Amino acid sequence: MTVGLALVEEADERLRPLAHARNVAWWDANIDASEENERCRRAAELAYTGVLADRELYEALGRSDGREDGLVGRRVELLRNLMLPHQVPDSLRERIVELESAVEGRFARHRGVVRGAEVDDNEIKRILRESEDPVERCEAWEASKTVGAAVADDVRELARLRNEAARTLGHRDWFALSLAHDEMDEEKLLQTLAEADRATSEPFARWKSALDRRLAERFRCEVADLRPWHYADPFFQDLPVDGGVDLDPLFAEKDVVTLARRTFGAIGLEVGEILNRSDLFPRAGKCQHAFCIDIDRGGDVRVLANVTDNHDWAGTMLHELGHGVYDLGFDAGLPWLLRDTHLVTTEACALLFGALASEREWLERVVGLASVEAAELEGRLRAARAAELLVFARWSLVVTGFERILYANPEADLDAAWWELVTRHQLVRPPEGRRAPDWAAKIHVAVAPVYYHTYLYGSIVALQLRAPLRAEAGGLVDRPEAGALLVRRLFRPGLSVRWDDLVRQASGRPLSVEPLEREVAAA
Ligand SMILES: [Zn+2]
Repeated sequence: MTVGLALVEEADERLRPLAHARNVAWWDANIDASEENERCRRAAELAYTGVLADRELYEALGRSDGREDGLVGRRVELLRNLMLPHQVPDSLRERIVELESAVEGRFARHRGVVRGAEVDDNEIKRILRESEDPVERCEAWEASKTVGAAVADDVRELARLRNEAARTLGHRDWFALSLAHDEMDEEKLLQTLAEADRATSEPFARWKSALDRRLAERFRCEVADLRPWHYADPFFQDLPVDGGVDLDPLFAEKDVVTLARRTFGAIGLEVGEILNRSDLFPRAGKCQHAFCIDIDRGGDVRVLANVTDNHDWAGTMLHELGHGVYDLGFDAGLPWLLRDTHLVTTEACALLFGALASEREWLERVVGLASVEAAELEGRLRAARAAELLVFARWSLVVTGFERILYANPEADLDAAWWELVTRHQLVRPPEGRRAPDWAAKIHVAVAPVYYHTYLYGSIVALQLRAPLRAEAGGLVDRPEAGALLVRRLFRPGLSVRWDDLVRQASGRPLSVEPLEREVAAA
């Protein structure tokens, strides 16, 4: 046994039970948010990250990095990446964790004020979706930004501390460290973002000017008078209701879990075991969102959801089970560390399946929509999907562009930089003389830093995967060959192949914005 192999075997043995315990504790805390479960979750997290912080192991791995071939070399490399952010000096790490949780707590407690009354995020979103009163809308939008002013100094301080941490590990700043940690090439990222910008800029401008004309009519003003509060959410990150297609009536009285089970079963990807272990319906004291978790990398995969019979939950179940079938598809012969996935590829798979809920073929074959109606809907569904991609891509350009500026220089005029990006990419005009840290109102900047680009990559790769599925299996719905192709090319290798090579291997080409460009032309 080589030194490298001995090291990674030992690390696997130490990490595996702790990761298992941490995942179980995370699951328990989410299905039942009791104080006891939360305490267990924190303890399990600390035990797990304790191993990742092991300096001796990290340095020993460093000495064998580059000396081992094949899978052993790959495991050394991955383990080093996994441990990298945990090598920050303890005192600095503690300050970062403390400040992050303080900011997170402030986000949870903060309430904006509209018409003299405190409102939560749901109420702000409701006003921006429904209200016909521009004054009320403006107040709601302003209320959505007050949390930014409350946390901005701390978020700026977090950026300084994260940069300091990155520099102790030999990286330029936190942006560079995060990319290195995720095996992302910075130059390639910048190039891809520039291409995504170019591919979406003109169709977005076209789509948005039609939207603006409708909004100006709705609010009885000139297009030039439109401001951020005329759009349907605080950051203009979602497709406005009037641009979408209401599919909810199709799902009334339907069992969306059965629809999802049937979708995967028909392509040879059984999800019965996942569903048996899952917690799928709303209940008091339980997390209100949805996620999929691979508990043990050995077949115990679970989904948490709050299913009701509507279109959104049909899509969400397909999305989460898309993560789930990926986790069940790793080659069982791979070592524990490699039976995992990069966020870009698993998100791509989940988005690929989630999108089915808005596609004609699935609605026809699985939900039983009559073909005349389905044909009628098809054009509108495609246009809505294209618009959704456009809105999301432009918004991702804002967030990613901003984070580069933030970490390049936390002392920069961030308020101005934010609005410069919003104006350029989203074509949204700031309120006159706006001077406020509106960037800090986006919780991701504080607690999920340098992450947004993985969503964008995931959505690009999801589009890219459709080409081989179409060419070699005729599509995805009801094609067992499609399931087999995904298992063979995308799932089985786990982390043994770098994510960008895996994209090439699974889709037949390197990551490319070309499918995005084609898709958004339908908006
Ligand atoms: Zn997902």
